[in-house]
Amino acid sequence: MAETMAAKVKPKSAPLVGAHMSIAGGAWRAFDRLRKVGGNALQIFVKSNVQWRFAEVTDDLVAKFHETRAASGVREVIAHASYLVNPASPERDIYRKSRDSLVGELEYAVRYGIGWLVLHPGNHMGSGSRRGIERAAAMLVDVFEKVPQGGILIETTAGSGTALGSSFEHIADIIDEAGGGGRLGVCLDTSHIFAGGYDISKPSGYRHVKETLTSLGLLARVRAIHVNDSKAPLASRVDRHEHIGRGHMGVEAFRRIMRDGDFATVAKILETPKGMCGRRKCDQVNISLLKRLAKR
Ligand SMILES: [Zn+2]
Ligand SMILES: [Zn+2]
Repeated sequence: MAETMAAKVKPKSAPLVGAHMSIAGGAWRAFDRLRKVGGNALQIFVKSNVQWRFAEVTDDLVAKFHETRAASGVREVIAHASYLVNPASPERDIYRKSRDSLVGELEYAVRYGIGWLVLHPGNHMGSGSRRGIERAAAMLVDVFEKVPQGGILIETTAGSGTALGSSFEHIADIIDEAGGGGRLGVCLDTSHIFAGGYDISKPSGYRHVKETLTSLGLLARVRAIHVNDSKAPLASRVDRHEHIGRGHMGVEAFRRIMRDGDFATVAKILETPKGMCGRRKCDQVNISLLKRLAKR
């Protein structure tokens, strides 16, 4: 009897987990880098993350990306906007450059068939959160007008300096003021949330975060989770990523996320330090740990 019952239980699909990978040598090469560490969800930059300049991407390179993706078995690909982009900047020149870069990056993402571009809500540079939120929302409206496809995920931040996004209210306000449409979503970064003061290492803190996301109407908008442990303590507002289970958060927070049915179809992406952890690549060690945590 027990066997018959077991046979009827539908096998769960593999957890959606992977890592941010370099696009050095061509964006299509990221798929091979991900395969080597056992991931099925990928994040890339679509251009250099530290320069305003866009390298030309030919149609052939885009075709190569689509072909490689189709053959790779990778289930989800998202992009991350370059670090120079500051949608909350009070400086006219930086604001304009940020908007132009965001337009270009969203266009590149669309060409690659990538549905979501992750964006930090920016730094208000002393002009105040309210003004920063208004500017960021206005930029999103502007960018969506210029690029008819593709969505943007606003990422939670650790809140260092004048950064917006360490409270979920900031993110809800930006999304509301940008019109709240279906092209807007949320990317949770576990280490940023923790450094921003939400203690998801404890069951009560995790519940609080879920309730806050629900009450602000953000839970269904979560389309990606950056799974990073934190080198910096709770509420430190310091953004330093650590390998899973080796930081101040510990492994239990990640077990909760990996088993949370609300996030079953949400890509979990590592942004932890690269390199070797013993004889294996650190990404491989972290991915296999996350997969184990997902098992009941
Ligand atoms: Zn980020
Ligand atoms: Zn992140």
